[in-house]
Amino acid sequence: MVRWKWRMSRRLAVWFWGILALFLSADFYGRLYIFTSGQHAAAENAAHSEVPEIYNESFGETEHSGSAGVIALTFDDGPHEIYTPRLLDGLKERGVRASFFLIGQNIDGNEDIVLRMQKEGHLIGNHSQSHMQLTAESVKSACEQIEGTNQKIEAVTGMAPEYIRPPYGSWSDELESMVPMTVALWNLDPLDWKLQDKDAVVRHVLAHVENGSIILLHDIYGTSVDAALEIVDTLSQKGYEFVTIDELLVE
Ligand SMILES: [Zn+2]
Repeated sequence: MVRWKWRMSRRLAVWFWGILALFLSADFYGRLYIFTSGQHAAAENAAHSEVPEIYNESFGETEHSGSAGVIALTFDDGPHEIYTPRLLDGLKERGVRASFFLIGQNIDGNEDIVLRMQKEGHLIGNHSQSHMQLTAESVKSACEQIEGTNQKIEAVTGMAPEYIRPPYGSWSDELESMVPMTVALWNLDPLDWKLQDKDAVVRHVLAHVENGSIILLHDIYGTSVDAALEIVDTLSQKGYEFVTIDELLVE
């Protein structure tokens, strides 16, 4: 009898400790899984600048998705013999393509830079011949401004540009009906030409950027080039993708 009781209590004890161990191990592995998944996600994030899908599916509470959005960097008023190549170097290093709206008279002597833009996959557009406000001129001279720059770009690249960014965004119905080009404006303007302050430009862009942002910058200022590359680095880490402006205007 005593022996039987002892056996029973030993069996109960085995069950008790067995179930307790099962609970503890489930909890342990659960915590371990969460910990290692988090580590994995952080490592992937650092490696690819984006958070993998699994991180969202598992927990659904992170604010970053695979792609935070698509944005276009656009540069007006160039090319500039010093700052544009510096920008092109930085973009190449980061594998980012941008859109350049060129002033015809700045192409003279900088043809190699224009050719490099084309070779490296950037979009080349028209920004008039001498930064003229096209709506303040006769339609005839406005068209000459546009045509002159188209010819210069075509002479270098072999292709006439499809996109025009009129200086100051000034365009008219009359020009729209006469010029067979697509107008490409912008929706995020950090006033880089006015500020000429890298940190202020970066701050403004980071505070206002969203999916579909078309950022207006000018590659004729060193501060704007430095700001652009910092913007690329910061937004790439947040999961944004950079595209040329034609990819945003199509949608
Ligand atoms: Zn301009």
